[in-house]
Amino acid sequence: MIDSSLKQLAAALAAKQISSTELAALFLDRIEALNPRLNAFITVDRERTLAEARQADARLAAGETGALLGVPVAHKDIFCADGWRTTCGSKMLGNFVAPYDATVIAKFKAAGTVSLGKTNMDEFAMGSSNETSFFGAVKNPWSDAAVPGGSSGGSAAAVAARLAPAATGTDTGGSIRQPASLCGISGLKPTYGVCSRYGMIAFASSLDQAGPMAPSAEDCALLLNAMAGFDERDSTSLPREPEDYSRDLDQPLAGLRIGLPKEFFAAGLSAEVAQAVEAAIAEYQKLGAQTVEVSLPNMGLSVPVYYVLAPAEASSNLSRFDGVRYGHRASDYKDLLDMYEKSRAEGFGAEVKRRIMIGTYVLSHGYYDAYYLQAQKIRRLIAADFAAAFKQCDVILGPTAPTPAFNFGEKAADPVAMYLSDIYTIAVNLAGLPGMSIPCGFSGNGRPIGLQLIGDLFAEAKLLNVAHQYQLVTDWHRRLPPLGEASGARR
Ligand code: GLN
Repeated sequence: MIDSSLKQLAAALAAKQISSTELAALFLDRIEALNPRLNAFITVDRERTLAEARQADARLAAGETGALLGVPVAHKDIFCADGWRTTCGSKMLGNFVAPYDATVIAKFKAAGTVSLGKTNMDEFAMGSSNETSFFGAVKNPWSDAAVPGGSSGGSAAAVAARLAPAATGTDTGGSIRQPASLCGISGLKPTYGVCSRYGMIAFASSLDQAGPMAPSAEDCALLLNAMAGFDERDSTSLPREPEDYSRDLDQPLAGLRIGLPKEFFAAGLSAEVAQAVEAAIAEYQKLGAQTVEVSLPNMGLSVPVYYVLAPAEASSNLSRFDGVRYGHRASDYKDLLDMYEKSRAEGFGAEVKRRIMIGTYVLSHGYYDAYYLQAQKIRRLIAADFAAAFKQCDVILGPTAPTPAFNFGEKAADPVAMYLSDIYTIAVNLAGLPGMSIPCGFSGNGRPIGLQLIGDLFAEAKLLNVAHQYQLVTDWHRRLPPLGEASGARR
């Protein structure tokens, strides 16, 4: 059961081979056994989960059907979920119990999924290793010494270790794709505006996007069907007809034009990752795809541009955390201003403070034109690079991250080294495009390697098709990490 695809789980539930309550209990037991080691969850609430599962069982008993009805899913702790503690990985929200559901959560509830709990993450989604979480780092299930990636590291580790069949994540500069790559699972960042941001705690509003994380592309398609859709409560949500994202999974790839940006295969890419990606390209050629070299000349500017724009937006978004209405409030202060200052000084961690300071700086008078405005202009050039590339190809392929999972502490003291973990993912957010990471191999020391697929606007179904066809002829996405004796608990 632990190893079943979402389709298989839904079929077993529909056929009454297992109840949603039994299935949830199975995963809760596994979380209880393995989470002390992995720290993938911040909040687990057995009773609340089982109550949701009983509701799903009642719907199943009433004859209702649904692709995800009764299936357990874990949620990144950035999504407000009614009655659940929602921390965003921060001390600032350490005691915050959300009074309403984010739209993504509400949509999953409507689909009949059961929440297994809230997964660990970098504080306010700022990080690439999960080391900035106030609740402690998450361990990569493939190696206790390795980071799981970030910021959706808890979701990635939970899925990789099969503490959950699937999870939600969010991606501002790579936070779904990079941890998916480092943990050996599949993850999709949709086109900006496809999934509602309502109730998803904001980091950089023009970049943040929710998406699915699961073992396979097929699973991701089912999850995206549940998550996506117009929401009038999010002004950046796009009014579009609902789509079935799994409709093209079985399309053959003969004639597919795969664009290989030369900037993705240049200095900075580890030899092991390059080799695994080359092998995947050969696999695609066997499936009938053709490759064409493309160029994204401004891609080298994406990390600096992102580290102007994302902190600028974050400094504004995070100004709401002032200790007045909710969140952490200092216990000892002289007056109102002192209360603000102490609450924020105590509530935020070092990386969040660094971002707020950078953001405030680049938005300040005299620097706005030099940094913020320039960055906005380059953002436009990066989007134009992609638009030109998509005249020559159907999808773009490359590595997701420059290296396999690195060790704890390896980059924590050097922000720029950490920021470069997202060198291949950030441009996709700046251009608002959909991107996906799927497993394509392992390093010599047994750490997963991810392949990135990038599509033109609204090409999610195409990306899922291209990923699924690869997963039909490879089994990287089916490998399970060695979790010692606990793997004996697999059923
Ligand atoms: N690692 C990047 C950052 O620290 C991206 C994070 C994200 O996508 N949320 O900002």
